[in-house]
Amino acid sequence: MSDTLMDFDEAVRRYDPVLGLEVHVELGTATKMFDAAPNVFGAQPNTMVTPTSVGLPGALPVVNARGVEYAIRIGLALGCEIAESCRFARKNYFYPDLAKDFQTSQSDEPIAYDGALEIEMEDGSFFTIPIERAHMEEDAGKNTHIGGADGRIEGASHSLVDYNRAGVPLVEIVTRPIEGAGARAPQVAAAYVRTLRDIFRALGVSEARMERGNVRADVNVSLRESPDAPLGTRTETKNVNTFRGIEQVVRYEIQRQAAILAAGGEVLQETRHGQADGTTRAGRVKSDADDYRYFPEPDLVPVAPSREWVEQIREELPEMPAAKRRRLKAEWGLSDTEMRDVVNAGALELIEATAAAGITGQAARKWWMGELSRTAKEQETVLEDMAVTPEQIAELQGLVDSGRLTDKLARQVLEGVLAGEGDPEAVAAARGLEVVSDDSALLAAVDEALAANPDVADKIRGGKVQAAGAIVGAVMKATRGQADAKRVRELVMERVQG
Ligand code: ADP
Ligand code: MG
Repeated sequence: MSDTLMDFDEAVRRYDPVLGLEVHVELGTATKMFDAAPNVFGAQPNTMVTPTSVGLPGALPVVNARGVEYAIRIGLALGCEIAESCRFARKNYFYPDLAKDFQTSQSDEPIAYDGALEIEMEDGSFFTIPIERAHMEEDAGKNTHIGGADGRIEGASHSLVDYNRAGVPLVEIVTRPIEGAGARAPQVAAAYVRTLRDIFRALGVSEARMERGNVRADVNVSLRESPDAPLGTRTETKNVNTFRGIEQVVRYEIQRQAAILAAGGEVLQETRHGQADGTTRAGRVKSDADDYRYFPEPDLVPVAPSREWVEQIREELPEMPAAKRRRLKAEWGLSDTEMRDVVNAGALELIEATAAAGITGQAARKWWMGELSRTAKEQETVLEDMAVTPEQIAELQGLVDSGRLTDKLARQVLEGVLAGEGDPEAVAAARGLEVVSDDSALLAAVDEALAANPDVADKIRGGKVQAAGAIVGAVMKATRGQADAKRVRELVMERVQG
């Protein structure tokens, strides 16, 4: 049964969307959150497991200090308060991937709370996301359903459980209801999660690889008549792990809920699942927190990070991605639009690395956003995957700066580098692509060109300096573009006037 949808523009004209995002990030600690099993991805199923991972009788958990430190880093980066003391809680529910029958989480005592994150939208404007809390918990194992369509349990002949992921440290970041996004709600949701992803990487707490499910978002959406009205009933779409998916889910839920409300119906508070085609479908009716029978975990002592430790972590926080972008934009002298293009092209890190290898940011940007972007497009690939390193680009520009290559020759050398012929210096040598800087060789070519064009020589003598262009052109042609045009012009003038 397909849902009735209202046109998106009409929906956001008639209703005010409110978002709530719950983002889970898997931490890149060496071991799990409560036991010493390795925290690795892609190992043979059920090999990275201890009795604690699966809650065997008598097995006791111990808190991973590095996991706590990472959670504090995240909390601080999001402008949160860090709790003086907080406890873990058991969230009770049954699912085959949760052998313990409860998830060790935090309930009313999160390690971090009351923050805010400023995000930058693609059009360069800013939006502030209010953060309610960030708490520590553990991941569950992974069920695989065999025999059904799309790996779903429906129609499956049997299911397999891999507990390698059981107990992997997670931090869950929960926003307050996000109001005021209006028609931009889909983009706000995606930009928020993208910003978080960048922050996790900058903090070094996670590789934050979306395709591995390192970062997953539960997307809550509700509509109300107007911004002053009380919050409407929300739906929660679980485990969306692509930016596009997040955008699509918000858009779809706005359209779906608007159609229900406009027809006089009521939105059902339920869990939904995002589909590959960008729609959502109903899952279970949402349980209330009460159903989980949260209670303090009796096997773990409270976590009470000392204020000294928290301050030390705060001092050691790396530069946040947004601040870094602002700094580089100023250092490289880019406009808002230029900087946005750089970010959208995925060129920021590449340009930064190229500049770090010894050339100006402007020159580095010119290569990555110019010639290399063009080539990437032609080859239907992305900058990151091109067969050239920032160091090679810096070397190439160095050859231009020292006058050994013209821009045009440099582009030919780059072609060779991309074709796997070696570093720029080697390619230039092998292909014989160097500026003819030997004046005597150039003078011979200049004299030849002047002799062949006596009328032009006369014009120059008569004061028509622009006419020199024709001679320079002839010399460039004769040297197959391997002369420095500026030097050729100087020589032409010397010859004619001097
Ligand atoms: P649960 O734990 O059941 O998922 P929470 O109360 O933690 O529920 O809320 C989940 C997320 O949804 C939070 O980000 C919260 O701010 C947000 N939220 C709560 N009420 C609404 C609503 N009416 N519309 C949109 N988002 C909401
Ligand atoms: Mg939730």
